[in-house]
Amino acid sequence: HAKDNGRNCSQFFTRGIDDTLQERIGLENALHHALKQQQFQLYYQPQVDVSSNKMIGAEALIRWIHPEKGIIPPDAFIPLAEETGLIVDIGRWVLESACQQLRAWTDQGMDGFVVSVNLSALQVQQPDFVSDVCQIIKRCGIQPERLDLELTESMIMRNAEETIKTLKQLSEQGLQISIDDFGTGYSSLSYLKRFPLDKLKIDRSFVNDITNDPDDAMICRTIISMAHNLNLKVIAEGVETNEQQALMRSYGCELYQGYLFSRPVPASEIPALRERSFEVDTNPPASTILDY
Ligand code: C2E
Ligand code: MG
Ligand code: MG
Ligand code: MG
Repeated sequence: HAKDNGRNCSQFFTRGIDDTLQERIGLENALHHALKQQQFQLYYQPQVDVSSNKMIGAEALIRWIHPEKGIIPPDAFIPLAEETGLIVDIGRWVLESACQQLRAWTDQGMDGFVVSVNLSALQVQQPDFVSDVCQIIKRCGIQPERLDLELTESMIMRNAEETIKTLKQLSEQGLQISIDDFGTGYSSLSYLKRFPLDKLKIDRSFVNDITNDPDDAMICRTIISMAHNLNLKVIAEGVETNEQQALMRSYGCELYQGYLFSRPVPASEIPALRERSFEVDTNPPASTILDY
């Protein structure tokens, strides 16, 4: 039985790999082309402070606007861009584009608005990364405090000493640093204390189940209280229901990002959302109050 399975399996894989290789080469060429032809676009997802019910900033999320295939999400091309190194150029374009947008919004009177940008490991490891970032900020004439850089735990842990140095330089310039997808990696909060951080983004996998899984609720609650003790802000990712929001709020979480408030939208829709009040029901539903 095992032998049969093994043979079938390897046949299956051989064919699979050929297909995949062709696909990859096609996709890689298409990505180069997309960058040159300016087929990338940044969408922005509101980040809401529920103490004021206002959007205080937005996360820039890349989209590939393909002439035939339509809108392609980042998960379909960022991993290959990382493997091939093209992420360095794409990442620079993202920073430049987000900073230009922030400049335009500031000119329209959106004072204090913060834009968050996702980084990739390879990008941060470039020797000229810090000077690149500083140049872009200077050229766009934006205040460094208005730019928030998102890194994941695994990115930081992979090359911890180098990354600490890089982040310290950026933090000294006034930029904000956030840990994305927090809770999915292996870092401890006490270890993270060595990094110049401003904010933790609690991964949406925890937030998702918070109203019916006591373990996830406990994890969220613990992350929030420890983060606050370390003077870090906390933002809940992937908040889809008012119950999730209300429960996170009862744990002390002040910042939210998720479909409950808004999906990622084209930049042109942000100014109107900035004016809006994001009212929420602040009472956690009795059935979901987990008591421990
Ligand atoms: P991320 O940085 O964790 O971004 C949050 C993702 O969660 C986004 O997916 C967003 O659309 C989605 N999301 C937000 N609220 C909700 C919700 O309530 N429910 C659910 N189910 N999902 C929600 P998106 O835009 O597809 O981006 C996926 C990932 O791609 C990002 O995860 C980030 O890791 C990466 N990415 C996006 N833009 C860039 C970029 O410019 N550079 C790099 N290096 N990576 C990027
Ligand atoms: Mg992010
Ligand atoms: Mg995230
Ligand atoms: Mg992610």
